[in-house]
Amino acid sequence: MTQEIAVLSAKPDMAVESPPVRKVFVKTYGCQMNVYDSDRMTDALAKDGYVSTDVMEDADLVLLNTCHIREKAAEKVYSALGRLRDLKKKKAGEGREMMIGVAGCVAQAEGDEILRRAPAVDLVIGPQTYHRLPEALKRVKRGERVLETDYAIEDKFEHLPAPDKAKTRARGVTAFLTVQEGCDKFCTFCVVPYTRGSEVSRPVAQIVAEAQKLVDAGVREITLLGQNVNAWHGVGADGEQWGLGELLNRLTRIEGLARLRYTTSHPRDMDDSLINAHRDLPQLMPYLHLPIQSGSNRILKAMNRRHTTAEYIALIARIKAARPDLALSGDFIVGFPGETDEDFEDTLRLVETVGYAQAFSFKYSTRPGTPGAELGDQVPEDVKAKRLERLQALLLEQQNAFAQACIGKTIDLLLEKPGRMPGQLIGRSPWLQSVNVDAKSSQIGDIVSVRITGAGPNSLFAEVVS
Ligand code: SF4
Repeated sequence: MTQEIAVLSAKPDMAVESPPVRKVFVKTYGCQMNVYDSDRMTDALAKDGYVSTDVMEDADLVLLNTCHIREKAAEKVYSALGRLRDLKKKKAGEGREMMIGVAGCVAQAEGDEILRRAPAVDLVIGPQTYHRLPEALKRVKRGERVLETDYAIEDKFEHLPAPDKAKTRARGVTAFLTVQEGCDKFCTFCVVPYTRGSEVSRPVAQIVAEAQKLVDAGVREITLLGQNVNAWHGVGADGEQWGLGELLNRLTRIEGLARLRYTTSHPRDMDDSLINAHRDLPQLMPYLHLPIQSGSNRILKAMNRRHTTAEYIALIARIKAARPDLALSGDFIVGFPGETDEDFEDTLRLVETVGYAQAFSFKYSTRPGTPGAELGDQVPEDVKAKRLERLQALLLEQQNAFAQACIGKTIDLLLEKPGRMPGQLIGRSPWLQSVNVDAKSSQIGDIVSVRITGAGPNSLFAEVVS
């Protein structure tokens, strides 16, 4: 039973009936912004009596929160919907109802097509209209198949409930907070400007209030999210225009908020105030995800990135001058149309020059509706595969070298959750690495001093320094 229901039933003189308990199963694909949205949707449904379940078969409502970034994303959604159709049929045979909803970027991009191809789907809802989800489900209950994919003029965050205290506590001591959505950059390979719309920044007061609520519920580390997070801007309490640097400054005044991060950034939006925030704010972790995608200026131009490799390298030098222990992460696409062997060698050279603690790399694949999809001169699949293999080998070598260099260091570790072994906890290093350490579960949420003793393929090992 949810907390809300318990409160209602504690007032017998009120003629209010508790909504029946229903179960919702949310499958989240893709980025942290989808994780945040899934939590907000679950919170929005709680007032109608929905509780989360991890067992799809038990659910009265299954929501697929989809991502359109990866290759064949839509096809994966359709095959998941095929399995859900069979489950819905089986449950109907047992006299149990199950609604199916599709949310996220595939819903936004393919709404009509989903309803046409997947008759078992009851609801398609785009990322800008999640606040309308409870009402949309009522329409489904009345027998409608609902499509909600317009860009709502109202601010969805004003209508979505703030994070619930009990649920936040259960979700742990780290949390995401979306501060910005959409993108105006129009990189030629990317669907985000079409699925999430143009850049919108949430107001300062709304962000500060949500951060305070998270901290009140026990959160110690907040990651600010945005498709283009450092394009965030707003009017501050002083009446001045603020950028992300000023916002981070303001958030450090929240007592109990120990750590801040932000992702994903565009090199063109790294302004002085944000760089200075890395210098001045000890709460801002020394880790920056700053994608460049290619090391070739010719390809960067074709991608419409609107910066050069020299500008990117100079920018990194400035940020590292401000915060010398900063570690970098990035994204790379190999085999963009027209990419030659020489262009690819430029990418390897750039990676060697910059040095990444972590990076994500993919083969280019066309996204219908993007300018990249119209380009000729596609790179053959086998060439892309070979280039990706070489790039990933280099990135892995750098990642391992970074982890090895951590051995022997004493660092602050935020203890987050139980580890695999009894008596072990998993924490997060300032550079976002998972670290295993022997500690008591009562210490979850503490920041402890540890010495790194070893490095595995995906995590570090440490001992508490007394
Ligand atoms: S800046 Fe990022 S989100 Fe925006 S179009 Fe480029 S890759 Fe997509």
